Amino acid sequence: MKILLPSDNSIQEAADSLNRGDLIGLPTETVYGIAAVATNREAVLRTFELKRRPSGNPLIVHVSSMDQVEYLVTAIPEFARRLGEAFWPGPLTIVLPKSSTIPPEVTGGLETVAVRIPSHKVARLIIEATGAPLSAPSANLFMALSPTLATHIALEILEGLSLVIDGGPCDIGLESTVVDCAESVPTILRPGGISRQQIEAVVGAVSVNLPLERRAPGSYLRHYSPRTPFRLVDRLGPSDAGIVLTPPQNDNQIELPREPSRYGSMLYRTLFTLDQRGLAEILTEWPPLTPEWEAVWDRLRKAAG
Ligand code: AMP
Ligand code: MG
Repeated sequence: MKILLPSDNSIQEAADSLNRGDLIGLPTETVYGIAAVATNREAVLRTFELKRRPSGNPLIVHVSSMDQVEYLVTAIPEFARRLGEAFWPGPLTIVLPKSSTIPPEVTGGLETVAVRIPSHKVARLIIEATGAPLSAPSANLFMALSPTLATHIALEILEGLSLVIDGGPCDIGLESTVVDCAESVPTILRPGGISRQQIEAVVGAVSVNLPLERRAPGSYLRHYSPRTPFRLVDRLGPSDAGIVLTPPQNDNQIELPREPSRYGSMLYRTLFTLDQRGLAEILTEWPPLTPEWEAVWDRLRKAAG
């Protein structure tokens, strides 16, 4: 396993590795991913094993252009096309009826597939050099924090990768927004990098409050957690450790910006740092309960379990 900086050579090496059936670590604007050629069943199965992810929790397929999306799906409704035009490349994942190009291992047996065109230049160059759609779930063990820096990829994951391309810190820092467009009304299955307000500005009202049976497969109440016990509170006391929105009172308090996208981009990174310190508990101050904070809230609640 080696960690390489992006260059023409390293991108070609990544593509060659993928085409040989290897798994690699790659940067995206959301989080670092474990990429495999999505049509290589054996590589896809190894992705699940490496992450210790249940096989029913489907992977997102990454491509670099709208033309390629057409091969993966059997239909693209008008509203899905408008979402793609508005937010691709970017942190939006669209669920559509899958074509036979995508093996059932990728989608956990579902008849739909989740697709995304990432905006990270390195991710797109790797997809183009490989010439294939890439499955790329976050490069974390199931339930653990997603890495937003190459150095935050866990050793157990690195062992299963042939190489990692280090593209620096991820801008968005939270997973993509997942919108189900396989039914007549778009439904947000997971809040993320693109807000509900942004989506509704393009397609009008969407549904979000899902009945349990239509929850995204793989949405668990606990997820994205540090190993240290984690709890949300109103205010940290002078000797508490954790994340604050006000000036820190000791070295184990880290202040994050009171602006949701900047907060989101630093959240996992900061939890990682705190998780390394052997603290008894990590506390975090509740951010404002306004719609712009929805994705951050979702991850904080899941971290708290
Ligand atoms: P990640 O861990 O970032 O790879 O996210 C993958 C998530 O996308 C899954 O846990 C699901 O919540 C969602 N997802 C992927 N494929 C589908 C699908 N076909 N239908 C609904 N949700 C999906
Ligand atoms: Mg994940």
